[in-house]
Amino acid sequence: MTKKYDVIVIGAGPAGMTAALYASRAELSVLMLDRGVYGGQMNNTAEIENYTGFKSILGPDLSEKMYESSTQFGVEYAYGEVTGIELAGNQKIVHTAEEQFEASAVIIGSGSEYRKLGVPGEDQYGGRGVSYCAVCDGAFFKNEDVVVVGGGDSAVQEATYLANLAKKVTVVHRRDQLRAQKILQDRAFARDNIEFIWNSNVTEILGDDKKVTGVALKNNQTGETSELPTAGVFVYVGILPISGAFTQLGITDEQGWIITNDQMETKVPGIFAVGDVRKKGLRQITTAVGDGGIAGQAVFDYVESVK
Ligand code: FAD
Repeated sequence: MTKKYDVIVIGAGPAGMTAALYASRAELSVLMLDRGVYGGQMNNTAEIENYTGFKSILGPDLSEKMYESSTQFGVEYAYGEVTGIELAGNQKIVHTAEEQFEASAVIIGSGSEYRKLGVPGEDQYGGRGVSYCAVCDGAFFKNEDVVVVGGGDSAVQEATYLANLAKKVTVVHRRDQLRAQKILQDRAFARDNIEFIWNSNVTEILGDDKKVTGVALKNNQTGETSELPTAGVFVYVGILPISGAFTQLGITDEQGWIITNDQMETKVPGIFAVGDVRKKGLRQITTAVGDGGIAGQAVFDYVESVK
């Protein structure tokens, strides 16, 4: 028998957890589904210094605290990878690989994932020197040389984290300056074991068939090519929405970001979206939490209206 709820929240990142907290505190019945570990991208983040209320907190610790608070009003939390949402009148049927659930409203908080470099060697050496998560894999490279690819907040923040473990960190960036916030840049520039290679692209990840041994580089101004020996390559070159299961609803833009109004409503009545998966300007924990609060309130009004 299909279990019924007022609201199903897809994704237990900061956006989904906050939406679940607000909706359950308003006494709606809420199921929160995640295909991984609650906390989402916070589990891949070392120190968080820009979440109000904490001078500094580790990502996994903030995940734990958010989970405890978001489930205090009776949210049901379950493992499940959502594969699609079916519309049945005012009701929504949420499908996972194994089960289906029914709700009046759905809040999608499925987040984003790293963009790959798309160069030879990247897939071959995935988990054997190529990583997208410094917090998860940094310790494997103690006292070794590593490369970070990218120039945004994540690249520079994680390069600084890796500088505590690795002998030397080389940041390879395709432009001649970083995009990261100034405070993050200042910290990275102050470290004497972080070097920068500007105007350059990684064109191949090199290895000995077992593990990474280096990267091939091309200067995009001069065309000059070179090789840089390294034990690890950490890739931070942007993010993509995780929205493949929802595109059939016609709620995404051409890149897959979900379009909402400022109440987090998509164009399908009763389907909301929050956090990184939304088309928006700033993808951070604070904005994810803000979206979650707004949707958690708006969903109450929606559920009342269709009762
Ligand atoms: P996510 O955190 O991505 O959570 C989405 C959840 O949805 C995941 O748990 C996922 O498993 C689940 N999911 C996805 N698809 C499905 C599906 N089909 N079915 C079921 N579940 C699904 N932000 C800051 O504010 N400060 C920082 O210092 C900071 N540092 C960062 C460092 C790194 C390396 C990275 C990668 C990000 C960082 N961010 C930081 C950004 C921040 O982590 C994100 O903006 C935030 O986590 C977005 O929250 P979210 O809930 O929208 O999505």
